[in-house]
Amino acid sequence: SVPLIEEPVGQALLRAAHLYGDALALIDGQVDRGARRRWTFNELAAGAQRVARALLRHFEPGQHVAVWAGNRPEWALIEYGAALAGLVLVTVNPAYLAQELAYVLEQSQASGIIVQDHYRGRDLCDLIDSVRPALPRLRHVIPLSTWDAFLAAAPDGTLPPVSPDAVAQIQYTSGTTGFPKGACLTHRGLANNGRLYAQTIGAGPGDIWINAMPMFHTAGCGLATLGALQTGGTQVMAPGFDAGLMLDLFEQERGTTMICVPTMLIRMLEEQARNPRDLSSWRLVTLGGAPVPPELARDAETILGVKVAIGFGQTEASPYLTHTAVDDGHPAWVETVGRPLPQTEVKIIDPETGDIVPLGATGEICGRGYGIMTGYHNAPDATAAAIDADGWLHTGDIGSMDGQGYCRVLGRLRDMIIRGGENIYPREVEDVLMTHPAIRDVAVVGLPDRDMGESVAACVLLTAPGAADPTGLEAFCRERLAGYKVPRRWHFMDAFPQTASGKVQKYVLRDLLSNG
Ligand code: ATP
Repeated sequence: SVPLIEEPVGQALLRAAHLYGDALALIDGQVDRGARRRWTFNELAAGAQRVARALLRHFEPGQHVAVWAGNRPEWALIEYGAALAGLVLVTVNPAYLAQELAYVLEQSQASGIIVQDHYRGRDLCDLIDSVRPALPRLRHVIPLSTWDAFLAAAPDGTLPPVSPDAVAQIQYTSGTTGFPKGACLTHRGLANNGRLYAQTIGAGPGDIWINAMPMFHTAGCGLATLGALQTGGTQVMAPGFDAGLMLDLFEQERGTTMICVPTMLIRMLEEQARNPRDLSSWRLVTLGGAPVPPELARDAETILGVKVAIGFGQTEASPYLTHTAVDDGHPAWVETVGRPLPQTEVKIIDPETGDIVPLGATGEICGRGYGIMTGYHNAPDATAAAIDADGWLHTGDIGSMDGQGYCRVLGRLRDMIIRGGENIYPREVEDVLMTHPAIRDVAVVGLPDRDMGESVAACVLLTAPGAADPTGLEAFCRERLAGYKVPRRWHFMDAFPQTASGKVQKYVLRDLLSNG
């Protein structure tokens, strides 16, 4: 099997600079084409070393430093700089409100924070000031508006040794479940996961990665950033997701690959239908982070002419556990999330007994290997609930594995609907509804029901107002699903509540519908 590389993230950067030198490593993917800054691998490494030295004027190796900013090239320089300095980077969602910020700064024991002064109309520095009195440990606030002066004051000097086993980042789970927990991810876990993922999709020098995944999440700062880095590719960092900007970046920067959640690709297909761009350079899209409707994967191949890969994982695993091999010929590959990545074990267990279930049977997906977090920061009970004594991470996802090791994901244990004692996986109902021509997107949830315990509700985004009605949709489902799985309640919406990484927040939908 493919070996792990035993090096911290900072060394991975220096090795890439040695290998790929003056090739382009990073492009600022902002809308204004003329203002897009570019860094070669050498420039990126030199810049990150300056960041590391500047940070070490204020912090000791091992201390926790938060970064609170949207996607922008400085984010990558901070990620590498903190890694080279041996600091633990606490990655904070720029959409957080003051109380959420205060919670993660306190919980993570951050000694400082680097902050983008303004983000989407909000003054983040003001928000920090408002919570600072409650955070005695937070000694330094470094606004990005002072970044150049901050770097100019960097002394010369050597950087400390950093172990690949050390925690590189604390990432707070993104909130499809509510209360954030800080997953402690190691240098080895992040660097190897990015590299092994990139190798699985056949990435190499010449690949141009269009990246709109949030940098505070493993998909952005791990897979896209460390994947492109270690295979000599160029990352174009978009300031955030916008379907039109994505397609423009593919056309203008000759993008070849991208990682996205299914919702993003749905928006891009719609945008391409409205206003076609030249996407001839685009060769592969990786979908993950949420259930991938097989229809969507097929549309990407037929309409965009782009190959599709699918990955499955979670923040706690740095993040990928499984991935499809491109062109591997599995007959039902779009319905699977592929096989375990190298150096990763996956098993499916009965969540009640903990026993491994027979091949093909359904149970909880567990993963073990180099990428699993060391634990949730300062949360021993939550850690013990997630990782068992043998080192297996219990993902909370339900799925199965076939005889060749291909895994399927049916959804989250807690999203499973139990109606009159029958288990219903929202995923199966969603996949059926996604084949209906009037449906643009759908989320199926269980609602409390006096008679049946739970009832099936479908929240639907239509292609046009009135394009379908509950009676027609119910009849459509009845032809394709067992009666007990057919949604009895239909809600037509304009948009779904989403996390910053574009995932539907089912718990918010359940609350909305139960209380309304
Ligand atoms: P939280 O942990 O707070 O719920 P989150 O769900 O956004 O937040 P992540 O770690 O980013 O946190 O999400 C991982 C989850 O996304 C997985 O546990 C799984 O439920 C889902 N997921 C990821 N990839 C896939 C996939 N290919 N198919 C189906 N579901 C997926």
